[in-house]
Amino acid sequence: MAISSIDPSTGKTLQTFEETTDAEVERKLDQALRAFAAQRKLSFEERAKRMNKAAELLERDKRAYGKMMTEEMGKTLKSAIAEAEKCAAACRYYAEHAAEFLRDEPVKTDAKSSYIRYLPLGPVLAVMPWNFPFWQVIRFAAPALMAGNVGLLKHASNVPRCALALEELFTKAGFAEGAFQALLIGGKRVAKLIDDPRIRAVTLTGSEEAGVSVASQAGKQLKKAVLELGGSDPFIVMPSADIAQAAKTAVTARNINNGQSCIAAKRFIIHERVYAEFERQMVERLGALKVGDPMLEDTDIGPIATESGRDGIADQVERSVKAGAKLLIGGKKLPGSGFYYAPTALTEIPESAPTYREEVFGPVALLFKVKSVDEAIALANDSTFGLGSSVWTRDASERERFINEIEAGLTFVNAMVASDPRLPFGGVKRSGFGRELGSVGIREFVNIKSVVIHEDTAAPQSASE
Ligand code: NAP
Repeated sequence: MAISSIDPSTGKTLQTFEETTDAEVERKLDQALRAFAAQRKLSFEERAKRMNKAAELLERDKRAYGKMMTEEMGKTLKSAIAEAEKCAAACRYYAEHAAEFLRDEPVKTDAKSSYIRYLPLGPVLAVMPWNFPFWQVIRFAAPALMAGNVGLLKHASNVPRCALALEELFTKAGFAEGAFQALLIGGKRVAKLIDDPRIRAVTLTGSEEAGVSVASQAGKQLKKAVLELGGSDPFIVMPSADIAQAAKTAVTARNINNGQSCIAAKRFIIHERVYAEFERQMVERLGALKVGDPMLEDTDIGPIATESGRDGIADQVERSVKAGAKLLIGGKKLPGSGFYYAPTALTEIPESAPTYREEVFGPVALLFKVKSVDEAIALANDSTFGLGSSVWTRDASERERFINEIEAGLTFVNAMVASDPRLPFGGVKRSGFGRELGSVGIREFVNIKSVVIHEDTAAPQSASE
């Protein structure tokens, strides 16, 4: 299978790459092991020096990196540049904090001394998606490399330029050759890599289907896996909320990254007392969004990353309307050669509609009306996913109930969900397991070793014995 860069704003192929051959993969795996032998011996200061250099390069070249992301997957240039900046911040965060997160932890026992030491595991395979083509990779790589591991990146097949640029970034930053390598291979070749004894662990950010496949393979090989999968995040608005602010944020939260974010708000669960006003404001704001060339400064929404992705969204909406959902705005592909889809809102969505249960990875908002906090929580949890959640209320008891009862890895109150290097990120249920980011994230790919040292009470042995 050829690996191609296709500009989703025009549909034109920019560049085609040959897949990395099996022989080349072999060489890279050996190289990873050699790099690990060196990388594990570096002090935190030495690793931090390189990671800070990576941050400096990301910042210096953010426009070029931004353009590369926009050309390959269609996100707006301004958001792509902001993504490069966020990557730089995450590199700096782990450069500064890794030593503290992984320092020895003394534990009192009967022994002379005992403590926990965090040691690296070795080469970790990272299977990554295209939607935040730099950020998804950096939030794995920065903690993993700071912990002393090395990385092998199997990026999504539609972003090969970004994959190669990331490999080059870490080399330029001074990490050993082989410390971070890109493999241009399709998803079908991942299972064989997981089987390889040189790979010690695997992390996947992607769809549920890919998660099932990677987790099964890792399970067969008894290897540690972290899975960051899909979501259908609820965004709940109660009567006490600031409705104008909630509606404004709702439009941003749904359409961020052209609607293709795992933590985009997807299901808007609105109390009946404020439903009509919320719907009116949201639809008005959706209608004002500027859809078009992602390179232009005033564009709000660019194209969907792939033609098949765009067609899939159109199909989910069409079948939902056939099942009885009411279309409030949008609901159509936009004319032209790029893969554009109009910002859309649906309401009165029956349980039989595909959008009721499936993740919709595009600019489609699903509106639901509820009568009470109980109904809001029940509907929020009526999903196989459990990634993020955003709740809007000024009532302290409602807030506590949402925090305690919504089945999700993140709950943001009166704000949209966002990832932050300082806070753990991940989901429950079919949104995956394990966490990235924060102090918890860097401890996913380490050997948590218990060390117990007793006094050596044996008499010294004589030379004649
Ligand atoms: P995807 O199709 O699952 O692809 C993600 C990565 O997995 C790609 O590198 C892909 O390779 C690979 N892959 C696909 N099938 C595989 C298989 N059977 N075995 C091993 N690897 C496989 O997902 P996507 O369409 O790129 O991304 C969208 C999905 O990612 C959404 O569901 C979204 O919610 C989720 N996501 C989750 C998070 C999170 O943090 N929880 C963040 C972002 C996105 P190829 O490209 O070669 O097929």
